[in-house]
Amino acid sequence: MKRIERVRLYPTAGQRRRLNFALDVTRQLFNALLQQRRDAWRMRRYSVSTKEQYRELTALRAEDARVAAVYRECQDAVLHRLDLAFAAFFRRIKQGETPGYPRFRGHLRWGQLEFPHGDRALKFNAEQTKVKIPGIGLVSLRKGRRVPTFGRAWLVRRGTHWFACFECERDVAPLPRTGKSIGIDRGVHVLAATSEGRLIGNPRFLARARLLIERFQRAVSRKRRGGKNRRKAVRLLARAYERIKEARRDFLHKAARKIVNASDAIVLEALNLRSMTRSAKGTMETPGRNVRAKAGLNRALLDSSFGLLRQMIVEKAVEAARTVVEVDPRYSSQECARCANVAAESRRERRYVCIGCGFRVHADVNAALVIRGRAELRPAARGASLEDLTDPRSVPDAGAELARCDQEVAA
Ligand SMILES: [Zn+2]
Repeated sequence: MKRIERVRLYPTAGQRRRLNFALDVTRQLFNALLQQRRDAWRMRRYSVSTKEQYRELTALRAEDARVAAVYRECQDAVLHRLDLAFAAFFRRIKQGETPGYPRFRGHLRWGQLEFPHGDRALKFNAEQTKVKIPGIGLVSLRKGRRVPTFGRAWLVRRGTHWFACFECERDVAPLPRTGKSIGIDRGVHVLAATSEGRLIGNPRFLARARLLIERFQRAVSRKRRGGKNRRKAVRLLARAYERIKEARRDFLHKAARKIVNASDAIVLEALNLRSMTRSAKGTMETPGRNVRAKAGLNRALLDSSFGLLRQMIVEKAVEAARTVVEVDPRYSSQECARCANVAAESRRERRYVCIGCGFRVHADVNAALVIRGRAELRPAARGASLEDLTDPRSVPDAGAELARCDQEVAA
């Protein structure tokens, strides 16, 4: 398994210009290669092969100084990326999904320069304070990072910032055993819930961030189209989005770290279509709650957050030699964690009150308990007993969440 080391770059104004130039050239190349394939098929029913385009790229570099100025392997990577886009397109056709033909990229949809053989192209100085990038120069790096041996590498532009990403081998350093296992549920009302009763909620900074973004969006819409001030406002808006994403990553890293440190085995729902549509179903169950326009950004961030959290848990678990178990999540939100009775009526908004045995708990925590139960671990490895959790208010996070929910109902 690979690990990505991401390091901030501090390019000078000139280096920044060259980086943006390389992005422009590779993007135009991508669009040109795409257009060539599309036209050849439309007009002559001819499929242009990767090999042909590779040869044409070589010819193009000989006659176009702009193209020749950009590192060759970055351009090979563009061709590879186009291949992947087409492979995904044909796979979707085969599976009867909406095909979605590969798209032409505008400058906002293109922010990555890839070096397939990064170790050949990018060279650190001895102290690892700078990295030499072909065609760009010797660029300063954020201090204090030690990047181990790496293979593939890429540079990304995020808003106005640049980062270098290095794909490294992951070192396994086992953590001490805790004798516990934990189930994680993708919550309907919160981002995720653990079988120990912890709710990983919608952190408050997201709500604050929403206000900030709304303000920048209004600023953009007040400026004249195509004007200099509008460009400035768009840059501020993009930067605000980036900061929120950074804050969210930080928050999720910490949540994942807590989970992995605390348990030997982590039980997750297997990824499938059902779990992807769960949150949408939750929205239908509580119409009017999540459809407010204001909730849009929070919702979108929450939906994409679970995937990120899951990925971070798995990566940290592999590094710590923890076990990750995947189970079928179907009906985990309706099943009782104590008596296994399955009934939709047991779900009451954020609470789960079993119609069979009267078990009462936060609905998402119940699902996390069910998920852990499905891993069929030995009872001795199960950790916290169900009795500790029967009163949702006994769990600090769940108590606060339920109190808020009661207030909402009362209002
Ligand atoms: Zn029950």
